[in-house]
Amino acid sequence: GKMNIAIDGPAGAGKSTIAKLVAKRLGYVYVDTGAMYRAVTWHMLQRNIDPDHTVEVLQEAEQLVIELIPDEQGQRVLANEVDVTADIRSLAINRIVSRYAQIEGLRVKLATLQRQMALRKGVVMDGRDIGTHVLPDAEVKVFMTATVQERARRRFAEMDGSESITLEQLEREIAARDQLDEQREFSPLVCAEDATVLDTTSMSIEEVVERIIAMAQS
Ligand code: C5P
Repeated sequence: GKMNIAIDGPAGAGKSTIAKLVAKRLGYVYVDTGAMYRAVTWHMLQRNIDPDHTVEVLQEAEQLVIELIPDEQGQRVLANEVDVTADIRSLAINRIVSRYAQIEGLRVKLATLQRQMALRKGVVMDGRDIGTHVLPDAEVKVFMTATVQERARRRFAEMDGSESITLEQLEREIAARDQLDEQREFSPLVCAEDATVLDTTSMSIEEVVERIIAMAQS
Protein backbone atom coordinates (compact mmCIF):
# COMPACT_ATOMS: atom_id res chain seq x y z
CA GLY A 1 0.00 0.00 0.00
CA LYS A 2 0.91 3.64 -0.23
CA MET A 3 2.72 5.40 2.55
CA ASN A 4 3.58 8.94 3.54
CA ILE A 5 7.15 10.19 3.46
CA ALA A 6 8.18 13.16 5.62
CA ILE A 7 11.34 15.08 4.71
CA ASP A 8 12.47 17.78 7.11
CA GLY A 9 15.61 19.81 7.56
CA PRO A 10 17.16 23.28 7.40
CA ALA A 11 17.08 25.62 4.39
CA GLY A 12 18.94 24.52 1.30
CA ALA A 13 19.61 20.94 2.40
CA GLY A 14 18.18 19.69 -0.91
CA LYS A 15 14.79 18.64 0.43
CA SER A 16 12.70 19.84 -2.50
CA THR A 17 15.01 18.46 -5.20
CA ILE A 18 15.08 15.07 -3.51
CA ALA A 19 11.40 15.02 -2.54
CA LYS A 20 10.34 15.73 -6.14
CA LEU A 21 12.50 12.89 -7.49
CA VAL A 22 11.34 10.42 -4.83
CA ALA A 23 7.70 11.32 -5.57
CA LYS A 24 8.26 10.80 -9.29
CA ARG A 25 9.91 7.40 -8.76
CA LEU A 26 7.11 6.16 -6.49
CA GLY A 27 4.23 7.79 -8.37
CA TYR A 28 3.47 9.85 -5.26
CA VAL A 29 2.38 13.47 -4.89
CA TYR A 30 5.02 15.99 -3.87
CA VAL A 31 3.88 18.56 -1.28
CA ASP A 32 6.16 21.53 -0.58
CA THR A 33 4.91 23.00 2.72
CA GLY A 34 7.49 25.80 2.62
CA ALA A 35 5.68 27.11 -0.47
CA MET A 36 2.54 27.52 1.66
CA TYR A 37 4.38 29.67 4.22
CA ARG A 38 5.93 31.59 1.34
CA ALA A 39 2.54 32.18 -0.32
CA VAL A 40 1.10 33.50 2.95
CA THR A 41 4.14 35.78 3.28
CA TRP A 42 3.69 37.03 -0.30
CA HIS A 43 0.08 37.88 0.43
CA MET A 44 0.87 39.67 3.72
CA LEU A 45 3.58 41.76 2.05
CA GLN A 46 1.08 42.75 -0.67
CA ARG A 47 -1.27 43.93 2.07
CA ASN A 48 1.47 45.59 4.14
CA ILE A 49 0.75 43.45 7.17
CA ASP A 50 3.72 43.20 9.52
CA PRO A 51 4.56 39.77 10.98
CA ASP A 52 4.46 41.26 14.50
CA HIS A 53 0.79 42.17 14.03
CA THR A 54 -0.39 38.66 14.79
CA VAL A 55 -4.10 39.46 15.07
CA GLU A 56 -4.13 41.16 11.66
CA VAL A 57 -2.12 38.37 10.08
CA LEU A 58 -4.59 35.79 11.35
CA GLN A 59 -7.61 37.86 10.28
CA GLU A 60 -6.15 38.25 6.80
CA ALA A 61 -5.27 34.55 6.65
CA GLU A 62 -8.98 33.76 7.13
CA GLN A 63 -9.66 35.32 3.72
CA LEU A 64 -6.75 33.60 2.04
CA VAL A 65 -7.00 30.39 0.03
CA ILE A 66 -3.68 28.67 -0.67
CA GLU A 67 -3.68 25.93 -3.30
CA LEU A 68 -0.90 23.57 -4.35
CA ILE A 69 -1.43 22.11 -7.81
CA PRO A 70 0.87 19.23 -8.78
CA ASP A 71 2.51 19.55 -12.23
CA GLU A 72 5.59 18.26 -14.10
CA GLN A 73 7.93 20.79 -12.43
CA GLY A 74 6.65 19.78 -9.01
CA GLN A 75 3.77 22.05 -8.13
CA ARG A 76 2.18 25.41 -8.84
CA VAL A 77 1.21 27.63 -5.94
CA LEU A 78 -1.91 29.82 -5.93
CA ALA A 79 -2.83 32.51 -3.39
CA ASN A 80 -6.48 33.50 -3.84
CA GLU A 81 -6.19 32.17 -7.41
CA VAL A 82 -3.10 34.27 -8.23
CA ASP A 83 -0.20 32.14 -9.47
CA VAL A 84 2.70 33.07 -7.15
CA THR A 85 4.93 30.08 -8.00
CA ALA A 86 7.86 32.21 -9.21
CA ASP A 87 7.37 35.27 -6.99
CA ILE A 88 7.57 33.36 -3.70
CA ARG A 89 11.23 32.45 -4.39
CA SER A 90 12.53 36.04 -4.02
CA LEU A 91 15.16 37.14 -1.51
CA ALA A 92 12.60 39.48 0.04
CA ILE A 93 10.41 36.49 0.88
CA ASN A 94 13.40 34.42 2.09
CA ARG A 95 14.27 37.21 4.51
CA ILE A 96 10.92 37.46 6.26
CA VAL A 97 9.06 34.17 5.80
CA SER A 98 10.32 32.69 9.09
CA ARG A 99 8.82 35.62 11.01
CA TYR A 100 5.33 34.85 9.75
CA ALA A 101 6.06 31.15 10.31
CA GLN A 102 6.43 31.82 14.07
CA ILE A 103 2.71 32.55 14.40
CA GLU A 104 1.02 29.61 16.08
CA GLY A 105 -2.46 30.20 14.63
CA LEU A 106 -1.04 30.29 11.13
CA ARG A 107 0.89 27.07 11.71
CA VAL A 108 -2.26 25.35 13.00
CA LYS A 109 -4.18 26.45 9.90
CA LEU A 110 -1.51 25.27 7.45
CA ALA A 111 -0.87 22.01 9.30
CA THR A 112 -4.58 21.19 9.03
CA LEU A 113 -4.44 21.72 5.26
CA GLN A 114 -1.26 19.65 5.03
CA ARG A 115 -2.83 16.75 6.93
CA GLN A 116 -5.82 16.81 4.59
CA MET A 117 -3.47 16.50 1.61
CA ALA A 118 -1.91 13.39 3.14
CA LEU A 119 -5.12 11.64 4.18
CA ARG A 120 -5.14 9.19 1.28
CA LYS A 121 -1.39 8.51 1.64
CA GLY A 122 1.14 8.56 -1.18
CA VAL A 123 2.63 11.97 -0.46
CA VAL A 124 6.22 13.06 -0.13
CA MET A 125 5.97 16.14 2.05
CA ASP A 126 8.89 18.44 2.72
CA GLY A 127 9.13 21.07 5.45
CA ARG A 128 10.41 21.73 8.95
CA ASP A 129 7.87 20.04 11.22
CA ILE A 130 6.39 17.26 9.10
CA GLY A 131 7.80 14.23 10.94
CA THR A 132 7.38 15.82 14.37
CA HIS A 133 4.07 17.62 14.12
CA VAL A 134 2.15 17.48 10.83
CA LEU A 135 2.47 13.75 10.08
CA PRO A 136 3.89 12.09 13.21
CA ASP A 137 2.67 8.73 11.85
CA ALA A 138 4.49 9.00 8.49
CA GLU A 139 5.91 5.60 7.53
CA VAL A 140 9.23 7.09 6.40
CA LYS A 141 10.88 10.07 8.08
CA VAL A 142 14.06 11.69 6.90
CA PHE A 143 15.95 14.60 8.46
CA MET A 144 18.16 16.02 5.74
CA THR A 145 21.14 18.18 6.62
CA ALA A 146 24.35 19.54 5.12
CA THR A 147 26.86 22.07 6.37
CA VAL A 148 25.68 25.67 6.13
CA GLN A 149 28.56 26.39 3.73
CA GLU A 150 27.44 23.62 1.39
CA ARG A 151 23.79 24.66 1.61
CA ALA A 152 24.68 28.27 0.77
CA ARG A 153 26.84 27.09 -2.13
CA ARG A 154 23.96 25.04 -3.58
CA ARG A 155 21.48 27.90 -3.27
CA PHE A 156 23.98 30.32 -4.79
CA ALA A 157 24.54 28.03 -7.77
CA GLU A 158 20.77 27.88 -8.41
CA MET A 159 20.48 31.68 -8.61
CA ASP A 160 20.27 33.35 -12.01
CA GLY A 161 22.29 36.45 -11.07
CA SER A 162 19.27 38.77 -11.15
CA GLU A 163 19.47 39.15 -7.38
CA SER A 164 22.60 40.77 -6.04
CA ILE A 165 23.88 38.93 -3.02
CA THR A 166 27.26 37.42 -2.21
CA LEU A 167 27.82 33.83 -1.16
CA GLU A 168 28.84 35.04 2.30
CA GLN A 169 25.67 37.12 2.70
CA LEU A 170 23.56 34.20 1.55
CA GLU A 171 25.25 31.95 4.10
CA ARG A 172 24.47 34.44 6.88
CA GLU A 173 20.85 34.74 5.77
CA ILE A 174 20.39 30.96 5.67
CA ALA A 175 21.89 30.63 9.16
CA ALA A 176 19.59 33.37 10.48
CA ARG A 177 16.50 31.69 9.00
CA ASP A 178 17.51 28.30 10.48
CA GLN A 179 17.93 29.90 13.87
CA LEU A 180 14.43 31.42 13.80
CA ASP A 181 12.99 28.09 12.64
CA GLU A 182 14.83 26.15 15.38
CA GLN A 183 14.00 28.56 18.17
CA ARG A 184 10.32 29.20 17.62
CA GLU A 185 8.00 27.94 20.34
CA PHE A 186 5.39 26.07 18.34
CA SER A 187 6.50 23.13 16.13
CA PRO A 188 10.12 24.23 15.72
CA LEU A 189 12.61 22.74 13.28
CA VAL A 190 13.96 19.70 15.12
CA CYS A 191 14.83 16.15 14.12
CA ALA A 192 12.08 13.66 15.02
CA GLU A 193 13.24 10.90 17.37
CA ASP A 194 12.37 8.25 14.81
CA ALA A 195 13.76 10.04 11.73
CA THR A 196 16.77 8.85 9.75
CA VAL A 197 19.38 11.60 9.55
CA LEU A 198 20.93 12.02 6.12
CA ASP A 199 23.90 14.37 5.96
CA THR A 200 23.98 15.14 2.24
CA THR A 201 27.13 17.31 2.32
CA SER A 202 29.08 14.85 0.23
CA MET A 203 26.29 12.71 -1.20
CA SER A 204 25.03 12.92 -4.78
CA ILE A 205 21.36 13.58 -5.50
CA GLU A 206 21.00 10.04 -6.88
CA GLU A 207 22.51 8.51 -3.72
CA VAL A 208 20.09 10.37 -1.48
CA VAL A 209 17.12 9.42 -3.65
CA GLU A 210 18.19 5.75 -3.61
CA ARG A 211 18.52 5.75 0.18
CA ILE A 212 15.00 7.07 0.64
CA ILE A 213 13.50 4.72 -1.95
CA ALA A 214 15.20 1.84 -0.11
CA MET A 215 13.63 2.98 3.17
CA ALA A 216 10.22 3.12 1.52
CA GLN A 217 10.64 -0.41 0.18
CA SER A 218 11.97 -2.08 3.31
O1 C5P B 1 11.31 25.12 2.64
P1 C5P B 1 11.40 26.61 2.44
O2 C5P B 1 12.79 27.14 2.55
O3 C5P B 1 10.71 27.07 1.21
O4 C5P B 1 10.57 27.20 3.67
C1 C5P B 1 10.47 28.59 3.87
C2 C5P B 1 10.20 28.89 5.33
O5 C5P B 1 8.89 28.47 5.67
C3 C5P B 1 11.09 28.20 6.35
O6 C5P B 1 12.30 28.88 6.58
C4 C5P B 1 10.22 28.20 7.59
O7 C5P B 1 10.28 29.43 8.26
C5 C5P B 1 8.83 28.04 7.02
N1 C5P B 1 8.37 26.65 7.09
C6 C5P B 1 7.90 26.18 8.29
N2 C5P B 1 7.38 24.93 8.39
C7 C5P B 1 7.35 24.12 7.31
C8 C5P B 1 7.86 24.56 6.08
C9 C5P B 1 8.38 25.84 6.01
O8 C5P B 1 7.93 26.91 9.28
N3 C5P B 1 6.81 22.91 7.42
